[in-house]
Amino acid sequence: MKPPPFEYYAADSAQEAVSLLAEYGPDAKVLAGGQSLVPLLALRMSRPEHLVDVNRAAELEQQRSDADGLHLGALTRHRVTERSAGIRAANPLLSEAARLIGHAAIRNRGTIGGSIAHADPAAEMPTVLLALDGAVEAVSRHGTRQIPASGFFESYLTTALEPDELITAVHFPPWAPGSGWSFTEFSRRSGDFGIIGVAATLRLGDRGTIAEARIAISGGAETAVRASRTEKALIGQFPGDGTWIAAGCDALEGLDLPADLHGSAAYRRHLAAALIERALRLAHERIPARVPA
Ligand SMILES: Cc1cc2nc3c(=O)[nH]c(=O)nc-3n(C[C@H](O)[C@H](O)[C@H](O)COP(=O)(O)OP(=O)(O)OC[C@H]3O[C@@H](n4cnc5c(N)ncnc54)[C@H](O)[C@@H]3O)c2cc1C
Repeated sequence: MKPPPFEYYAADSAQEAVSLLAEYGPDAKVLAGGQSLVPLLALRMSRPEHLVDVNRAAELEQQRSDADGLHLGALTRHRVTERSAGIRAANPLLSEAARLIGHAAIRNRGTIGGSIAHADPAAEMPTVLLALDGAVEAVSRHGTRQIPASGFFESYLTTALEPDELITAVHFPPWAPGSGWSFTEFSRRSGDFGIIGVAATLRLGDRGTIAEARIAISGGAETAVRASRTEKALIGQFPGDGTWIAAGCDALEGLDLPADLHGSAAYRRHLAAALIERALRLAHERIPARVPA
């Protein structure tokens, strides 16, 4: 199928895009990498009257790592997130997750802003943003606001973003030194969306017990979800197989996992428990060795 007709605007700057969104609001859509929007247009599942292409807005491509954390301009391509040594050093979980997005051709075009705005519950970037308590910077004619990840993803493909708001950047807090990490997922074919994915980080305290754990799950609900209760329960425990296995079961309590053509709810539950266990084990193995005093 072909998309319904629309007016196309190539904004030269974020400010121009914001002005266009102010004018056309709910009748407009931002076009970034086009990897999610163009299929939706072709299937006529989205019918905007105006498309605001932001690919010429060079300021949206910038990345910065400083004492406040990692700041990625909305147009940062997944391939850059995957391959940039600076991004990997600042946030290895994010780079690992980016590598799992679709195929290289999709990662060359797809952007972090587009992935966060699209809010697919199986997508990797929203899951990492949630796991690390990141935030989204959104700009409209009314000004700029920071929306914490915990309040951004509302339901299936639905976010707290207003129709006239443009995501300009995505922020990740500073990486906690001494943390191990893992993004672990399962998909039936390489390049497919993961059926379930798990973002995890772990940090140990002086006694060798767990001082901090972060776990977020993709594909388990209408949005990515954080296993906050399990994260708290892990604190003070000794790392080990029994701890990881118990966390895998505990994290799914109260979660109503969906069933679809990729698998039943029972299958997803089994898979999610196994992946949480695996993600925590790998995160633990990757905790940097301590240098003896
Ligand atoms: C075959 C295939 C496999 C894929 N596999 C995966 C996968 O495994 N994991 C995964 O996460 N994704 C996957 N994707 C999607 C891909 O990651 C997209 O890049 C991403 O979801 C959207 O990014 P985009 O830049 O292409 O956004 P677009 O498609 O341009 O836009 C997506 C949505 O976000 C809005 N938007 C975009 N940028 C902004 C902005 N700055 N401000 C406000 N709104 C904005 C658009 O209006 C639109 O509603 C796949 C896509 C394909 C075609």
